[in-house]
Amino acid sequence: AGASAEQVTQTVSPPDLALLTKGAGHKYSYGHALVLSGGVGRGGAARLAARAALRVGAGLVTLCCPPAALIENAARLDAIMLRPVADEVALTNALTDPRITALCLGPGLGLGRRECALVAAALRSKRPIVLDADALSLIAQNSDLRALVHADCVLTPHAGEFARLWPDLGTSEHSKLKATCRAAQDIGAVVLFKGADTVIAGPDGFPEIHVALRDRAAPWLATAGTGDVLAGLITGLLARGIPPRSSACTGAWLHVEAARQFGAGLLAEDLPDQLPQVLRRLG
Ligand code: AMP
Ligand code: MG
Repeated sequence: AGASAEQVTQTVSPPDLALLTKGAGHKYSYGHALVLSGGVGRGGAARLAARAALRVGAGLVTLCCPPAALIENAARLDAIMLRPVADEVALTNALTDPRITALCLGPGLGLGRRECALVAAALRSKRPIVLDADALSLIAQNSDLRALVHADCVLTPHAGEFARLWPDLGTSEHSKLKATCRAAQDIGAVVLFKGADTVIAGPDGFPEIHVALRDRAAPWLATAGTGDVLAGLITGLLARGIPPRSSACTGAWLHVEAARQFGAGLLAEDLPDQLPQVLRRLG
């Protein structure tokens, strides 16, 4: 405590390429990410996240969807695998596989009882998890679910989601850094507070770990679906075994860099496909 926001702000630096390259390992050496999807007609966000997770280097990515949504997803996926997950029992069965190393929960997921039970089952598995979008809204509504959030989680709220989770923490521009730090301490996980000035904080307190992307503006990101891609990028990095804070910082950097390199006219689906170019230029 006592340090001003300016003193503790660091800018996310370009990722260490060694983190992101691949060696002699096989696909299972690079982790297996599960991305949970919503139902019929609502899979776009999860497909964006899954594609980003695979592009950033997860060895395998499986999209889990309600059985009724299998056909429409199958028509739109190739390298990404599909698994029917009707309910939390099916998810718990899937998670008996120790090779599943990370999950992405929230993009397009839905807000019903099924989804609430899925989020609970995923959190109980203690896997590294990205919590975004609907998963954040579910946690904000349900204190039992909120209590299951653990230190290997990364929460990625935008301003609206942040205010739902922490209505008492100010979210005005000047207090965003402090609010993010307090939120991370409160929930005991990494919090990445999105926006033009994204801030990332870990749960271990003021003042070492706040990272702002203030000098890395990419206004083209203000378009539908880009947040889902960010959730997928961080999930892919978690799946590879990269620790939560580092996954959040690296994912945020790659996300902004992909948008800057692509430039005007960006759609969310362009971001994962820009990633090979971003990674090549790092080398
Ligand atoms: P979401 O609100 O979940 O769709 O996420 C939007 C994504 O775009 C987040 O990663 C934001 O940080 C990013 N973003 C939105 N607007 C801007 C902006 N004006 N400049 C830079 N990044 C932005
Ligand atoms: Mg979003």
